[in-house]
Amino acid sequence: MAEIVTEARRVELVTCSFCSGTGKDPFGIMSRLSTCSVCGGSGMVQVEAPYNRCAHCEGTGAVKRITCTACFGTGFVPAAAGPTIACPECEGTGDDASIPAMACLRCRGRGWILLE
Ligand SMILES: [Zn+2]
Ligand SMILES: [Zn+2]
Ligand SMILES: [Zn+2]
Repeated sequence: MAEIVTEARRVELVTCSFCSGTGKDPFGIMSRLSTCSVCGGSGMVQVEAPYNRCAHCEGTGAVKRITCTACFGTGFVPAAAGPTIACPECEGTGDDASIPAMACLRCRGRGWILLE
């Protein structure tokens, strides 16, 4: 079933990946009862649709207990507006080659780049 791709982007509410929708700080860095900094405690986040799972954090929203810098902790990144190839720098992992906790600079942690 082919979906017709339009220019129009919309915003969708999805479950916050960082806290798995609990609304609580998953790592209890401040306190186990503190609210999730990504969704502000609602358990839901707004993402631009269509979207892809974030490669850098593998959709978990966290990299080494830190909010993922590629998707800001949501676990999702906006899908490309055109054809893409796996990022040659990180081979699609979204991780910096020398510092895996950092997002790949070439693809900004997404794991893909637009086909030129
Ligand atoms: Zn959350
Ligand atoms: Zn991420
Ligand atoms: Zn990359």
